[in-house]
Amino acid sequence: MMDGASGKATPGLRLPAVHTLLAAEACQPLVAEFGREQTVNVLREVLARLRESLVNGGAPDTSQAAVLAALAERLRDANRSHMRRLFNLTGTVLHTNLGRALLPDVAVQAVADALRWPMNLEWDLETGKRGDRDTLVEEHLLKLTGAEAVTIVNNNAAAVLLMLNTVAMGREVIVSRGELVEIGGAFRIPDVMTRAGATLVEVGATNRTHEKDYDAAAGEKTALMMKVHCSNYAITGFTKEVTLEELVPLARKHGIPVAVDLGSGTLVDLEQYGLPHEPTVRETIAAGADLVTFSGDKLLGGPQCGIIAGRKDLIAAIKKNPLKRALRVGKLTLAALEPVLALYHAPDLLADRLTTLRLLTRPAASMRRLAERLLPAVQGALGDTYTVTAEPMQSQIGSGALPVDNLPSYGLAIRSAPATRGNPLGVLERRLRDLPVPVIGRIKDDALWLDLRCLEEAHAAEFEAQLTDLGRA
Ligand SMILES: *Cc1c(COP(=O)(O)O)cnc(C)c1O
Repeated sequence: MMDGASGKATPGLRLPAVHTLLAAEACQPLVAEFGREQTVNVLREVLARLRESLVNGGAPDTSQAAVLAALAERLRDANRSHMRRLFNLTGTVLHTNLGRALLPDVAVQAVADALRWPMNLEWDLETGKRGDRDTLVEEHLLKLTGAEAVTIVNNNAAAVLLMLNTVAMGREVIVSRGELVEIGGAFRIPDVMTRAGATLVEVGATNRTHEKDYDAAAGEKTALMMKVHCSNYAITGFTKEVTLEELVPLARKHGIPVAVDLGSGTLVDLEQYGLPHEPTVRETIAAGADLVTFSGDKLLGGPQCGIIAGRKDLIAAIKKNPLKRALRVGKLTLAALEPVLALYHAPDLLADRLTTLRLLTRPAASMRRLAERLLPAVQGALGDTYTVTAEPMQSQIGSGALPVDNLPSYGLAIRSAPATRGNPLGVLERRLRDLPVPVIGRIKDDALWLDLRCLEEAHAAEFEAQLTDLGRA
């Protein structure tokens, strides 16, 4: 610091002036891209930082080129999207934190159109009069579920809330203790019940509930008997659950409707695709449920939404509830949902066309081939601090669906050389997150696992191409 005290007194003198910088040729593309006002504001921030550094005795590069380079970087940073695309190699296909279901191109195109054009969202093109947005998907859903009526809301949590508030406000709802689940942290059946204005009547014990428990709890104040599909855990051992088939006649005897929160819920029998059985909406309606709630973006493979299917009179009451207006879906959701539902009319082609089902049914041999092909490139990028092997692993469906069933998969297991100090797997996890398209794996049993189920062939080259960045990181 040659200029010591004098540099402290007039540090600004060493900085180029704002108007000079703005007039520079290299600044013009920034003004064109980010606008004059934003460019000036960010430029002032950049200069303020440099001034502060000079005052504190630092020696930053204050040349015009350096200032403009810093300006460009800060402008790009400030305008970069916070929602980023990534590679989900966690092995969990429907990962709630990574956005759950991926939608097929037909849905992507429909959403793009709905963004760009006016739509008959609530406009009946037959009559030229005001319509109801639910009717856009009603026909598909009635056919696929066997229900009399349906309505769509923001997500399944909203579906449960709206259903309870409509059918049971100020009254009682009977639920088995074994089914008082918490889903994804903030959604607990007892809390939703309270917010809906209904009183929860718990029956049975955590592991065992009998028909006589429901029978004894039913009375004047009972509005509903409700079953919640235990989608994210399993109770095993000495257990007894009252099945829907057993509950329905009992509820009928008392004149009380039965609701089932299916959670994931599927519209097709997954066994035909070699997957474990998960109760379908059709089966649940056929077994006598008066109302069924389920998510649009779990096994259904569509956009985030909650679907309530069931008895016409009950759905009509739900649609009249003022809360429906607060919980309804927007046009983008309906635009995406309709073509996804349409795919279900061709079940023989579904495993190919519906992204979620295609990923869930992808044979382990396909991931194995990919793992073996990618292995040398990944090993090469990581160097000899890490050992990469292609290994069998277990994928999960995720989003609480089929919690105890795993899907045989294949991928890369990365271990650090035995003598490596520090937290090499944590460091690697970070490096993978820092890639242009972040890669998310999972650390377990002293290895970083990259399950290749959700890396389809079409994107493998892109994954491979950014491995050079990994080597440099
Ligand atoms: C996932 C789930 C919910 C919540 O559904 P969202 O669509 O995430 O709001 C509610 N109930 C059950 C049983 C679930 O599995």
